[in-house]
Amino acid sequence: MPVLIIHGGAGRIDKEREEKGNKVIENILDTVEPMLKTGKRAMDIVEFVVNLMEDNEMFNAGYGSVLNYDGFPEMDASVMLDDGSFGGVASIYGVKHPVSVARKVMEKTDHLLLNGKGAVDFARVMGFSEFNEIPDVKKKRWKELRYALQEDKTTHGELIYWKKLKDFTEMHYGDRYGTVGAVCLDSGERIASATSTGGIWLKLYGRVGDTPIMGAGTYASSYGGASATGYGEAIMKMFLTKRAVDLMKDYSASEAVKRAVEEATKADCSCGLIGIDRDGNIGYAFNTPSMWFGYRHA
Ligand code: ASP
Repeated sequence: MPVLIIHGGAGRIDKEREEKGNKVIENILDTVEPMLKTGKRAMDIVEFVVNLMEDNEMFNAGYGSVLNYDGFPEMDASVMLDDGSFGGVASIYGVKHPVSVARKVMEKTDHLLLNGKGAVDFARVMGFSEFNEIPDVKKKRWKELRYALQEDKTTHGELIYWKKLKDFTEMHYGDRYGTVGAVCLDSGERIASATSTGGIWLKLYGRVGDTPIMGAGTYASSYGGASATGYGEAIMKMFLTKRAVDLMKDYSASEAVKRAVEEATKADCSCGLIGIDRDGNIGYAFNTPSMWFGYRHA
């Protein structure tokens, strides 16, 4: 039976915003449900649902992406199919739907990952129009963070903050929230995974996180599929989604993602994971205070 699970990021968030986000996730699942029911392909479904989240300023992806140190969005995204096909874009800008560009990398090139201007140029060739809008709420937050960075008297200069960026942004906002991802098993029993993010607040120009890296932010194989969110540098070191999907060889998705997140906790990796195994079982786990997620069976 076709099934879809999606996440909207893991971290710490106030109750009100958590509830608002959960409603948005439910609405998104309502919108995509007919695709699940009418036998659409897993890759089309995960792309569509991630596009919906990339359009919503509530999430940290596409239009709602967080801003780097210089005040610009640089986005990462990837897709993967259970046959090993993979496509990713890193530090892409000026497009509305990075995950769709990642899909084009998978389908139209022999490469796995394009970055920066190369990814943008490729997107234009593929017909993606320029999109540079930034929601006011993200501009405001960037100004507040930069101000806080400047005013903080406990360190001596930006480099120290860059080294401690994770602590700094958590201290001031607590919400490294909003990366989006989806995993789907379709009626033809294909599994696809997709993830899209703006990364982390005030990241250095050119910083690439886990999201566009195969096996870190996104993975799929004959055992299942997974999408991750959380502290990218730690997720990359663990190849978190590959670990979770490999565990699906012997365990259900629910047990596999739980075990992978337990390993992550031991490695000081704050994260959230969603997954689906070959039998259509879903799994979700996180070691952060909360994660936006939801799922739907056809
Ligand atoms: N994993 C993303 C990154 O490090 C951020 C997140 O999921 O919140 O780029």
